[in-house]
Amino acid sequence: MQLCEKCRHPLASGDSDFYCQQCGARYDRQAQCPVCHQPLQVLKACGATDYFCQHGHGLISKKRVEFVAQRQAE
Ligand SMILES: [Zn+2]
Ligand SMILES: [Zn+2]
Repeated sequence: MQLCEKCRHPLASGDSDFYCQQCGARYDRQAQCPVCHQPLQVLKACGATDYFCQHGHGLISKKRVEFVAQRQAE
């Protein structure tokens, strides 16, 4: 569970992002490699989404992807 940077309230998970129910801050959902914790390249093809690590770990199945909240720029 990740906390809001502003008010330390636990973030709620939306369809494609995270948001804070306390102060309304929104966070992007960033896909990270479970091995090296670097951002993954998102490949969209034919309605499917694949995640690719550019640091030598290849394609990462969605089940293994780590999603972290990344504060959106204002
Ligand atoms: Zn907040
Ligand atoms: Zn990796």
